[in-house]
Amino acid sequence: MFKAICIDKDDQGYRATLRELDDSALPEVPEGAVTVQVACSTLNYKDGLAITGQSPVVRKFPMVPGIDLAGTVLDSQHPEFKPGDAVVLNGWGVGETHWGGLAQKARLKGDWLVPLPAAFTPAQAMAIGTAGYTAMLCVMALERHGITPERGEVVVTGAAGGVGSVAVALLARLGYRVAAVTGRPQEADYLKQLGAAEVLPREAFAAPGKPLTKERWAGAVDTVGSHTLANVCAATQYGGVVTACGLAGGMDLPATVAPFILRGVTLAGIDSVMAPKALRLQAWQRLARDLDPAVLAAISRTIGLNEAIDTARQLLAGQVRGRVVVDVN
Ligand code: NDP
Repeated sequence: MFKAICIDKDDQGYRATLRELDDSALPEVPEGAVTVQVACSTLNYKDGLAITGQSPVVRKFPMVPGIDLAGTVLDSQHPEFKPGDAVVLNGWGVGETHWGGLAQKARLKGDWLVPLPAAFTPAQAMAIGTAGYTAMLCVMALERHGITPERGEVVVTGAAGGVGSVAVALLARLGYRVAAVTGRPQEADYLKQLGAAEVLPREAFAAPGKPLTKERWAGAVDTVGSHTLANVCAATQYGGVVTACGLAGGMDLPATVAPFILRGVTLAGIDSVMAPKALRLQAWQRLARDLDPAVLAAISRTIGLNEAIDTARQLLAGQVRGRVVVDVN
């Protein structure tokens, strides 16, 4: 038997509960199956949507949510993994269409797993989680498009959230001047400790703006979408790069093409879920190299599996700072 958060949708409605499940309930994986003893999982924005049912993230029921996990291989039919190996999983539809990490055990496709970098404990890997790995993908995209610290300031929106916190810390460590946009002025000191040079209020970005404004940003990591993303694009320098990874403020993009056709701005889309394995491995290597492990203690707190459902609601309400690690045992 093992404990898991379980989401059901039936005549009684949509609900998440903490349950005891039998090992025989673990999903079948036709090829290259790996069973993992989960040490830790985490809560990302998407897990909040899945647990509360606020968006149709979960595609099959019953579902164990949790798009991330870190743990130890118990049993493997995959050539790259053997019992005892420490592994990490991010995305691939796990927690949406395949049982996920908010459980003490998981059975997964070996192709989805990456080795846990030696630099991190399972808890540290989950303090990073999909949010932190996505922040790294954004930073790597800025670099790929030639945005170096010398080019100018980088703005991070939704800065006190999970992706935002890691993005601020990574960019500052790499020498960029970072402006952090937050709706929580009380988190200004936290953001400055992570390395933000300046903290800006969310309201200045959230209202409808002009197609083009004064050129300010060399680069951007946007986790918010909607008017915020449009306003960031409008204030991006000639040849600048905006990485778009989130929709915490809305799925829409009420923008014009002016920044793209008049200033050569690049809008770079970032997806972590289906990112190819080579890119994932590179992102985790970069996290091991560029993220100060002390930052992980500053941005994360640990909860038990029995607190995950309530905390998911707080996360969607924008009340969670940084990252939440779920110790499933
Ligand atoms: P969090 O909830 O931890 O952070 C989101 C932050 O956005 C909040 O902390 C808040 O920051 C800000 N925010 C919340 N609501 C609003 C609003 N209505 N208007 C403006 N800002 C708002 O989530 P994550 O960091 O885990 O994820 C951030 C976004 O990135 C989500 O939309 C998520 O779905 C997306 N994402 C996408 C991935 C991909 O592969 N593309 C992977 C991971 C995440 P503050 O209080 O500082 O203003």
